[in-house]
Amino acid sequence: MRAHVRRRTTTPYAWTMSVPLFDTATALEPLRPQLHDALLRVANDGRFILGPEVEAFEREFADWIGTRHAVGVANGTDAIVIALRALGVGPGDEVVVPSFTFWASAEAIPPTGATPVFCDVDPDTMCVTAETVAAAVTPRTKAIVAVHLFGNVAPIAEIRARTGLPVVEDAAQAAGSTTIRAESGALARPGALGDLATFSFYPSKNLGCFGDGGAVTTADANLAERVRTLRFHGSADKVDYVDIGYNSRLDELQAAVLRVLLPHLPAWATHRARTHERYRNAGLGELVTLPVPAPGSTAAWHLYVVRSDRADELAAGLRVRGIGARPYYRTPVHRQPPMARYLPDGGVSLPVTEELARTHLALPVSATITDQQVGAVVDGVAAVLAGR
Ligand SMILES: *Cc1c(COP(=O)(O)O)cnc(C)c1O
Repeated sequence: MRAHVRRRTTTPYAWTMSVPLFDTATALEPLRPQLHDALLRVANDGRFILGPEVEAFEREFADWIGTRHAVGVANGTDAIVIALRALGVGPGDEVVVPSFTFWASAEAIPPTGATPVFCDVDPDTMCVTAETVAAAVTPRTKAIVAVHLFGNVAPIAEIRARTGLPVVEDAAQAAGSTTIRAESGALARPGALGDLATFSFYPSKNLGCFGDGGAVTTADANLAERVRTLRFHGSADKVDYVDIGYNSRLDELQAAVLRVLLPHLPAWATHRARTHERYRNAGLGELVTLPVPAPGSTAAWHLYVVRSDRADELAAGLRVRGIGARPYYRTPVHRQPPMARYLPDGGVSLPVTEELARTHLALPVSATITDQQVGAVVDGVAAVLAGR
């Protein structure tokens, strides 16, 4: 046995608890038999594209979101392209989008022929606000992509009221979050707040399948029909074509997996949301700046993103201790080279985005993170900042 040798070659912190940045496997473990049954059901049935599983998932997902229609598509990026196309976005139009987001939120705009126009975000919620969006609106603005970043909830009703423009919610990171409707006081979910909303079921998302997958939700029957046609080559029947569309479908295997997982999303989302309180109660807010859930909202944190002037030093120190930590958007979207051609002459000033890009750091969160793991993260942050 060489265990004693291995021990000496590990880091000095190898005895501490290691905490992964995210963990999707633990939550799936007890569901394995059901998942295997679902996959076998589809394999035996032999229908793989636009069959009963997708149809059932679309109904179950729309019901759960609290909207009328859900349309399964191939991924969360296609979902944004198709949602924008359904709104009639095309060449000559502008679409307002934050720069502090995952690349795909903005990458989806040029394929429609429209130009992305970047707006700033709020430093506390890290989401767009009615003010930051309004500052980027011009007479050519056709739509807004409002991102529920990290699972926090962007103020969709305020943005619609302030701009009078259609809003596509990019809810890729916000499955399971909730908010209170100002008009009625009723509970509502991202996906039911804008004209259309887009979801990603990429495996690491709050609701993730076993590959790529996505959906568009809407309360509007006409928009839903447009989305259905666009995902299927611009046709209802592959005989008559009414539009230049896409081949972008959620497949039956993924829909069958998602139907097993969806009933568990509320509990997973609650666990993600409570992680914020647990980090706060463990004193993390005295060491770094914590994210602020949007007023009236419960954020099912997809990523738990704090701010610190020593973010890179923290990430390196935590990783040595076996604690996952990394920045996601160190170079904001508007400063990535392919977006340069869409920036106005003289560039664009997004001071909060620049600040967040420099200082943000994702710390571990998952549907199954334990109190001990939260404690280990906070101890690790304290130790690194103290130079220990
Ligand atoms: C993941 C993600 C997307 C894209 O989803 P894919 O399924 O990977 O195409 C879009 N926007 C945001 C904010 C995301 O996090």
